[in-house]
Amino acid sequence: MLPTLFVSHGAPVLPLIDSPATTFLRGLAATMERPTAILVASAHWETDRPEVNAVAVNETIHDFYGFPAALYQMKYPAPGDAALAQRVLGLLAAAGMPGSVDTRRGLDHGAWVPLLLAYPAHDIPVLQVSVQSHLGPEHHEKLGAALAPLRAEGVLIVGSGSFTHDLRGFRGQAVDAPVQPDVTEFANWMDAAIREHRREDLLAYRKRAPHAVRNHPTDEHLLPLYVAMGAGGPDAKPEHVHSSAQYSILRMDAYAFH
Ligand code: ZN
Repeated sequence: MLPTLFVSHGAPVLPLIDSPATTFLRGLAATMERPTAILVASAHWETDRPEVNAVAVNETIHDFYGFPAALYQMKYPAPGDAALAQRVLGLLAAAGMPGSVDTRRGLDHGAWVPLLLAYPAHDIPVLQVSVQSHLGPEHHEKLGAALAPLRAEGVLIVGSGSFTHDLRGFRGQAVDAPVQPDVTEFANWMDAAIREHRREDLLAYRKRAPHAVRNHPTDEHLLPLYVAMGAGGPDAKPEHVHSSAQYSILRMDAYAFH
């Protein structure tokens, strides 16, 4: 069965630069069987209640400003899957999380940037499910758990966010600038908690992890991790499949939950 994934999507320029994270994402598809569809919980779609997009072909949303023109030319026109969107909604409703379908929205850069690198042929149906930032980690663990049955149907469940995301320190930093110590300390704590299945610590990370609020002033970029963990299930074996950093403050780590 496919693992579930958490990936850090980095700055939107990721497809334009050479970096360890770019290389990792380019090699990702070869490590797994081919999914029948890909369901992405992206930090860049925040709603009050869960929403799932259902379109014939996904538009590419360039939801960022001030980046190189070449980035705005990039497209990821993967097909959608309206029937699967209804299945997703049904699973969420059954778990006490009723939601709705968005019949217009395409893919934001939290979804299309990593997929462009991992599955450049854009021939696998892609759906997004939104995050509910105001509801915190436990809600997203439950949301992921509700989606777990889809794994048996070959659906790849991906949480796309950022392992650290203190953007106040981002501008003006070189991509390979030395990593800030508080970023490393936070990431090491999170990594140990994931590997040691310390669920309570992970759910309470904002209080218990060192420099948590500094690394995630708001926590929408970490919540997709909990979707991936929840979809993997309580007995999933976590695998730290990638670790690197960019711009001194963005950890690009990725996890697979087997
Ligand atoms: Zn982002």
